Amino acid sequence: MTQPPATSRAPSTPAPPRMEELAPGVHAYIQPDGGWCLNNAGVLIGDDAVAVVDTAATERRARALRAAIASRTPLEVRTIVTTHHHGDHHFGNAVVAPHATVVSHEVTRTEMARRGLAMREVWPATQWGDVRLTLPTLTFRERATLHVGGLTAELIHVGPAHTTSDIVVWLPGQRVLFAGDVLLPGCTPFVLMGSLSGTLEAITRLRALDPAVVVGGHGPVAGPEVLDATQEYLEWVRDTARAGLAAGLSPLQAARDTDLGPYAALRDPERLVANLHRAYAEESALPPDTEIRSAPVFAEMAQFNGGRPVACHA
Ligand SMILES: [Zn+2]
Repeated sequence: MTQPPATSRAPSTPAPPRMEELAPGVHAYIQPDGGWCLNNAGVLIGDDAVAVVDTAATERRARALRAAIASRTPLEVRTIVTTHHHGDHHFGNAVVAPHATVVSHEVTRTEMARRGLAMREVWPATQWGDVRLTLPTLTFRERATLHVGGLTAELIHVGPAHTTSDIVVWLPGQRVLFAGDVLLPGCTPFVLMGSLSGTLEAITRLRALDPAVVVGGHGPVAGPEVLDATQEYLEWVRDTARAGLAAGLSPLQAARDTDLGPYAALRDPERLVANLHRAYAEESALPPDTEIRSAPVFAEMAQFNGGRPVACHA
């Protein structure tokens, strides 16, 4: 059957961001409704300092994050952890804390330097404000431990998943997981720039941590059920890719011919087209780090949406 254009959402002002305390000193800063560019942050307030996990896409949104932190504590943000290279997660670094140490995976730093502020050109109508590229000054490959005045956070590389170099921030004492965009509760997963099979492997590793609370890179605070939901979606994408390849369909045709079923209710369902491009590459045994040009895929996602361009909501 042919899928009608995905649910059309009229442009509207999203609800304001909110800070949720998940455990003493451990906060999620949630930006509804989690659509494109509306990412979440983590705020760890220790006895003597603050660490932030990701910032925001625009100057205005980064200022709001900074104000939300200042309303909770007079302590300084000394550390920013950048989970991956996408601009919505780090363009606001200098606004939130210009003197903080920025920590990331070493490949994330390379990708940030390579891409700069180019995401602004994907969405030229967005009011970016004075955003700046703030490259990490401390990088690692597999694992590092961050101490924030009594709080302990493990920084763990789990990529390739959403990108090639995703890290998650795990607080074993509180069983809180900040998953970056590897997990997107209530939103459609997005593996175009990473790996579908790698994300499934990451999910296995994250499940072994046994998190009680999961803060994804977008979407509301969730529990461990988001691990199962993400796995089920990606396995369905892989099955859809195999059937599409067997039938000689392009990723866009395969997406249009598929019944989204329960996944139609996820935010940004057009990402199916992009995820199928990655799944096709993997099923065709292309090397895992094969770069898929994103501009044509974004154009196809717009076609899937009945011609409505993929919009940045920041
Ligand atoms: Zn991302």
